[in-house]
Amino acid sequence: MSYTGPTDLYIDGEWTSADDGETFTTEDPATEEPYATVAEASEADVDRAVEAAHDAAERGAEWRSLDPRERGRFLESFADAIEDRKDEIVRVESRDNGKTPFEATLDVDMVIDTVRYYAGWTDKIEGDEVPVPGDRLNYTVREPLGVTGHVIPWNYPFQLAGRSLAPALACGNTAVLKPSSTTPLSALYYAAAADEAGLPDGVVNVVPGRGSVAGNRLVEHPDVDHVAFTGSTGVGKGVMERAARNVTGVTLELGGKGPNIVFPDADLDAAAAGCHYGIFMNAGQMCWAGSRLLVHESVHDEVVDRVVERAESTPLGSGIDDGGRMGPVVSESHHEEVLEYIETGRQEGATVATGGGVPDEKDAGYFIEPTVFTDVTNDMTIAREEIFGPVLSVIEFSDREEAIEIANDSPYGLMAGIWTTDLETAHSVADYLDYGMVSINEFPVTQPQTPFGGFKQSGNGREQGTEALHEYTQTKNVNVNLE
Ligand code: NAP
Ligand code: MG
Repeated sequence: MSYTGPTDLYIDGEWTSADDGETFTTEDPATEEPYATVAEASEADVDRAVEAAHDAAERGAEWRSLDPRERGRFLESFADAIEDRKDEIVRVESRDNGKTPFEATLDVDMVIDTVRYYAGWTDKIEGDEVPVPGDRLNYTVREPLGVTGHVIPWNYPFQLAGRSLAPALACGNTAVLKPSSTTPLSALYYAAAADEAGLPDGVVNVVPGRGSVAGNRLVEHPDVDHVAFTGSTGVGKGVMERAARNVTGVTLELGGKGPNIVFPDADLDAAAAGCHYGIFMNAGQMCWAGSRLLVHESVHDEVVDRVVERAESTPLGSGIDDGGRMGPVVSESHHEEVLEYIETGRQEGATVATGGGVPDEKDAGYFIEPTVFTDVTNDMTIAREEIFGPVLSVIEFSDREEAIEIANDSPYGLMAGIWTTDLETAHSVADYLDYGMVSINEFPVTQPQTPFGGFKQSGNGREQGTEALHEYTQTKNVNVNLE
């Protein structure tokens, strides 16, 4: 089935082609066939979008001046409009990214929940009264930042766009959304939903385009007041540097190399199921993947056997191939990168317990076998670098201290998992982990209500929960002399 959804840029409430007429074509990674051709935003298009967002964010402009409850109702309508398109978005996301319909459904549901969650916050963003000396009234007001720029990666194109868009809009900001040029389609459904919900012109703008052109311009534009960037640590560092030239704030959601730590007293079946899901979901293309399995030596073989058994019985398929539980990786170049990492793992002396290549049964598509490496040490490339594919590195430990040391010995600090039935072990280890998120006896898990973000080179700032309300507002302090 061919693509029949939106293909234009969405700027200031209008669907428009790129100013130089450029387009680009995306590919279905499960078939290697072209899927859709969409407008490609130039720097001038990004400037138009930022200008529209800037006008819509000004003091006195409709969105900013709305009764907060009214803004909440708009966001409810926005969520309704997304929900009305759910089946179509799931189909499009599956074809554009390669993820299974099951996975795409989880993503769209998460967005609907997130938008509704923030719709409820619009009239609860409160300031404080500050007790100061003297005869004075001193209070704080939380104001929107203005224009927020959202730069989104290809692994969860729809879900990650909604994650930062919802709180930004709830706080009264306007937005320019730049999806990845690898997976630009689902972002256009935010434009369609904003249009249908009647959001004022300029509040939501969507500009698919190249990172090096449209993304770069958005990040360094002087009228962008905050950048929400989700992507690789390398690109994130450059984004932070360029935003700094205008002293623009950034939220960075970057890479990870998450450990799942399995203690001998754990429910080993549950641990194996969680560790399998935590690396093979979304074909391992997850910032918060549990890509390192740290397992106690006394249960190593038992846990590895169970994970391998699950890996070998994972049906491979995609959006057009019903019944698949793991899709292809997103593109030809990424396919090559992941296979190179597997080769490096072999060369550095790790053992392939299962997988390790391209599945025989597929004659098209960027599929990779679910791969488990044993005999991994934490200094190997496959234990240090984010592979961003279906590759699990198993490392043995002999006591709790060693497990914590290996877990924390990483440039990243996004999500860690702990598997144990002992309460003291669970909380003590959680306390010692240098990770922004720790999950005990399930992995991975997040909710619209819980803060999402990492320590160290996994980023800064937090999405989701009440913390995002602070990311997308700024504090004004007002002092009144009452004498
Ligand atoms: P990426 O290459 O860093 O790209 C992310 C986004 O930045 C894309 O929209 C990309 O556009 C754009 N971009 C590229 N160069 C740019 C530049 N010079 N200026 C401004 N924008 C630029 O990341 P990816 O490969 O798409 O995604 C995978 C990475 O995302 C992984 O490292 C993963 O861990 C991370 N991630 C983190 C989280 C989190 O919440 N912490 C969640 C998901 C993914 P183009 O694609 O068009 O080049
Ligand atoms: Mg694609």
